Amino acid sequence: RSSPDPTAGSPSRNEALFERSAARIPGGVNSPVRAFRAVGGTPVFFVRGQGPLLWDADGRTYIDYVGSWGPAILGHAHPEVVAAVKAQAERGLGFGAPTELELHMAELICRLMPSVEQVRLVSSGTEATMSAIRLARGYTGRARIVKFEGCYHGHGDALLVKAGSGALTFGQPSSAGVPEETVAHTLVLDYNDTVGLEETFARLGHEIAAVIVEPIAGNMNLVLPRLDFLQRLRSLCTQHGALLIFDEVMTGFRVGLTGAQGLFGIRPDLTTLGKVIGGGLPVAAFGGRREIMRCLAPLGPVYQAGTLSGNPVAVAAGLATLKLVQAEGFYDRLADTARTLTEGLVAIARRKGVPFSAQAIGGMFGLYFRESPPSTYAEVMACDREAFNRFFHRMLQEGVYLAPSAFEAGFVSAAHGPAEIERTLEAAQRAFAALG
Ligand code: PLP
Repeated sequence: RSSPDPTAGSPSRNEALFERSAARIPGGVNSPVRAFRAVGGTPVFFVRGQGPLLWDADGRTYIDYVGSWGPAILGHAHPEVVAAVKAQAERGLGFGAPTELELHMAELICRLMPSVEQVRLVSSGTEATMSAIRLARGYTGRARIVKFEGCYHGHGDALLVKAGSGALTFGQPSSAGVPEETVAHTLVLDYNDTVGLEETFARLGHEIAAVIVEPIAGNMNLVLPRLDFLQRLRSLCTQHGALLIFDEVMTGFRVGLTGAQGLFGIRPDLTTLGKVIGGGLPVAAFGGRREIMRCLAPLGPVYQAGTLSGNPVAVAAGLATLKLVQAEGFYDRLADTARTLTEGLVAIARRKGVPFSAQAIGGMFGLYFRESPPSTYAEVMACDREAFNRFFHRMLQEGVYLAPSAFEAGFVSAAHGPAEIERTLEAAQRAFAALG
């Protein structure tokens, strides 16, 4: 679906911009997955977003299911968020000193997230997880950390092992430039594998500072946790004095008001947040039990800091967003939208004879080119990537912007209504027909 836009350039402006970018920015992008390497073709340069729609540099419009990789839960340029940003910008862009806005954000997070008693704001999810790991190590006096294959926790050295998302897309589970010694204390286990967890704790439990987990995995496509896996994780950490860190950078305020921890009734010791809490600007956070958070400088010996931490313009965007997501029925409507989309896609694929499955939780969803949703990393890897790539490009042509990788979760926003879902499903009829 394409419509003329008076601000559009020539038809090939997108390609021209990418070519110029590639000369000055490695790969032409500021974050690898944006480069379309997994799916091939030229990344789309966007000039405008409004509600569920995006406009590219050639004036084409798209229904957006990437949502800036999660933050855009209200859709793009929501008037109340934009107004909050403008109002704060006029009062000053940042002071590097405490503001009342930060206090409101901290109080709000502590009120809504069951396990968070104190919280510190940072500017990216990477900073949040990196800081949470340092804090866990400082608090416990232990070095080892446990993560799960396919879970992505940002690009901090210690966590960049068998990570999903962009790293998976490139078939580089870890990165050059990370010395082996740096990750020598990082143990990697299988997601949803309770037996592996029990064996590891039996062997090394007394050395483990923390286990970090995406309580709903969204960086190896969407993989739902088995409840008994998360519950066993909680009890093993408690039993062995290790901290449980829920990385809710993606799931926080995305799957519900109280995060995945609220959905599953599990209380982590520390939680990391990002994406939605910044409403599209750079705000992230880590928080948890007061006793642990008190180890942070200036109170305790664990150092952590940031020039732009709690930046008032960014926090204003986040607060305006978090105010709106608290509306009665907000997450029910969001979940309905995501479910209508995934159920519609599954029905079409079945009619067209394409092996395909999909599922949604809250405002996030997974699309899988296999018969049923995967519950392990190995099953994710066994999905038909070639089919995904063809589907992706056909949908893009039809004006539907999906994440440019078979390993990413998708997102709907509150601005996505029945009309967008219907148009998406119409496009999918043709895309699946081309595959069948
Ligand atoms: N943790 C999770 C679960 C994420 O999905 C991401 C980013 O996608 C991060 C951490 C890193 O956040 P950022 O990209 O803001 O550094």
